[in-house]
Amino acid sequence: MKKLALHWKILIGMVLGIVFGVIMTSVEGGSGFVGNWIKPFGSIFVKLLKLIAVPLIIASLIKGISDLKDISKFKNIGLRTIGIYIGTTVIAITIGLLLVNVVKPGEGISEETIEKLTQTYANSDGVKAKIAEASRQKNSGPLQFLVDMVPDNAMKAMSNNKAMLQVIFFTIFFGISMLLIGEKKSEPLKNFFDSLNEVVLKMVDLIMLFAPYAVFALLANVVVSSNDPDLLIALLKYGLTVVFGLLLMVVFYMIIMSIFVKKNPLWFLKQISPAQLLAFSTSSSAATLPVTMERVEEHVGVDKEVSSFVLPVGATINMDGTSLYQAVAAVFIAQALSFDLSFADQLTIILTALLASIGSAAVPGAGMVMLVIVLEAVGFPADKLAIGLALIFAVDRPLDMCRTVINVTGDATVATLVAKSVGKLGDPKPKNWDDNYDAVK
Ligand code: ASP
Repeated sequence: MKKLALHWKILIGMVLGIVFGVIMTSVEGGSGFVGNWIKPFGSIFVKLLKLIAVPLIIASLIKGISDLKDISKFKNIGLRTIGIYIGTTVIAITIGLLLVNVVKPGEGISEETIEKLTQTYANSDGVKAKIAEASRQKNSGPLQFLVDMVPDNAMKAMSNNKAMLQVIFFTIFFGISMLLIGEKKSEPLKNFFDSLNEVVLKMVDLIMLFAPYAVFALLANVVVSSNDPDLLIALLKYGLTVVFGLLLMVVFYMIIMSIFVKKNPLWFLKQISPAQLLAFSTSSSAATLPVTMERVEEHVGVDKEVSSFVLPVGATINMDGTSLYQAVAAVFIAQALSFDLSFADQLTIILTALLASIGSAAVPGAGMVMLVIVLEAVGFPADKLAIGLALIFAVDRPLDMCRTVINVTGDATVATLVAKSVGKLGDPKPKNWDDNYDAVK
């Protein structure tokens, strides 16, 4: 019998997880059961993925750089990547702003709903935590992000999943120094990292065998812990505006794929679909990163010299979905609370949402923290911030899941585009044992 492709298995796991979650919500004690007995399996899976992120970045980036032979090529890839990332993010924010100004989802929202949402969420721990986190991040100078990028202790950086850019900085520095001492002297290290890289990719495969069950657990838990359905419906217009914008981003990536990369966009989406499904289930581009790297390298055919740099950097600084969401959410809140935004304010939103998406951590809910900074930049009254966030809190989780898919798709698209532009896009080389338990066994 022909084996079911991995993305189908994951999709079936997701659907069953949602159905199970819905059933459990109506059974007495069901939510408790899911929390105690089902959710842990989802958490273990996310931890396993995060566990291998640092070794994977180090091994593959060192392999990528040491295969280069020439540092100037690296500069070329680096500049292109950053330039394209900024370009796609600005496009995402612009799409968000255009849509929210045309649809005006905030104007239809009744006083009653605003009141209800405020009462439910304005004083909730979730909203307070986001505002506190935002003020902590904001109290730093303009060049703080550069300072933060440089670790003062390599081991400490490697032991902190949030310090991904520091790890990347150290690894690039290390890789370039390896190039400089010449092939002969660096060979033992290169062999070591090549082998480490193979091992970690194998770990990704083994972890992925568990993916269909893990997404079941993750989604069942999302469903049982989701909010009052009435509130979700009140925010439907806003939610749909964000989702429609995100879909336009997919169309944009598909256009890039067919015009510039000259590949069938549907084929591309199929190749990376397991990464997208995981992004949706985990709401974390960082947790999805190992899978994104595996898919883009082995199934799309991007050379490691490109993917090993473009993808980890993208997971941290390129968040097209998040920035589109920030634009829509900021204007939605302003509309709902009758706070006028001038044209200059909207331009400020573009700039701050761009910086905010670079600064957002690749973890669930990070986008909402940065939204506070975007709102403050346009002069939104501080005493109304909690109310503003309360308005969108109920739908944040489902929108987070959707925007994370776009964040990951954007990274994969840019990696493929950069690879094509520097002649590093080859044929896919999926390993036969991929996604296939019998062979892995
Ligand atoms: N969860 C998103 C990510 O990991 C970030 C966000 O928008 O909150 O990409």
